[in-house]
Amino acid sequence: MEIRISGLSKTYGTGDKRVKALNAVDLTIPANSIYTLLGPSGCGKTTLLRCIVGLEQPDAGEIRIGEHVVWSSEQGISVPPEKRGLGMVFQTYAIWPHMSVFDNIAYPLQVAGVARASIRERVGRVLDFVQLQGLGARPATNLSGGQQQRVALARALVAEPRVILFDEPLSNLDAKLREETRKDLKKFLSKLELTAVYVTHDRVEALALSDHIAVLRAGEIVETGAPQDIYFRARSRYVADFIGRVNQIPATVAGHEDGLTLVDTSMGQLACRSGAELARGSEIMLCIRPEQLRLNAATPAPARMNVLTGTLHEIEFVGEVFEANVQIGGERLVVSLDAASDPHAGDEVQVAVAPQHCLLLPR
Ligand code: ADP
Ligand code: MG
Repeated sequence: MEIRISGLSKTYGTGDKRVKALNAVDLTIPANSIYTLLGPSGCGKTTLLRCIVGLEQPDAGEIRIGEHVVWSSEQGISVPPEKRGLGMVFQTYAIWPHMSVFDNIAYPLQVAGVARASIRERVGRVLDFVQLQGLGARPATNLSGGQQQRVALARALVAEPRVILFDEPLSNLDAKLREETRKDLKKFLSKLELTAVYVTHDRVEALALSDHIAVLRAGEIVETGAPQDIYFRARSRYVADFIGRVNQIPATVAGHEDGLTLVDTSMGQLACRSGAELARGSEIMLCIRPEQLRLNAATPAPARMNVLTGTLHEIEFVGEVFEANVQIGGERLVVSLDAASDPHAGDEVQVAVAPQHCLLLPR
């Protein structure tokens, strides 16, 4: 089901303790997709989710779920949470300690009056999914933190809601389990006719899991798009920087040529993906991701590649690759090097980068 949010605002507190958690948020979440709200701690993600669920009353705006207006300040509509047909997985486990794992998960079905045989079958299926098979009889508190979070996930999925909302559901799992659970979650969600709204501050989780991402800052949506749009074609430095590591190099537009934009930097002149709208002389920021910088390529650089010469510094082996800095002119760029290479500080290196990976953004 599609979710449409318009002009949604929420302020906490009064007087000089006022915090504007959401500032006139407009957002359309398409049906049957995984939609992620991504942003740093305190930017309003949880508040937005709680407004959709109905656990928080906004000050202004409207929320539609499918055809139904569930909140409207103008029309005075406020549908209670249990009537919105949503499932939710919280950041904290919200598991009932006095119940078994099975009863925790079965609870929403029991409340809905589902037949016992069907409850057994459906709870069994979600237990398998969250890799807790065989643990149904355990007291819920007798599980590890990660297992408890998976019980919460199973409980939200068991009633097969049309919309499910997740608030950082993987943040308490260890790295390996987090990755596995994320993959399972994506597989499971894409099999269902389900709209998933997923909140995280973790950019890798957002990129890997989502069909669409909305990046938030201080109660506002800064940018929305598919993961690759956000990653490769961010429209602001804030987003480019939040979604992944990026070298930011002050540059001045020198002109336009063959569909590319030429910029002057302290490293020399580079050809960049077209910013045809940029006037000559504009002061902008050239953004290049470390993994787009090719070092000492064995094959000659294809035509139009920018090729620069620099010196390696601060080499660090981080397992999959070496990370290092390259000094080129007045800039120090972060680069990654093949783990099989043998880099040394002071080595002279050739650095090549394709114009399409040179993004020009406002300073
Ligand atoms: P996020 O989930 O992105 O970390 P939140 O939505 O929890 O952000 O919070 C947004 C802002 O609103 C923060 O500044 C937070 O301190 C504030 N806030 C959240 N809940 C409350 C509350 N119940 N009372 C007062 N301030 C709150
Ligand atoms: Mg939060």
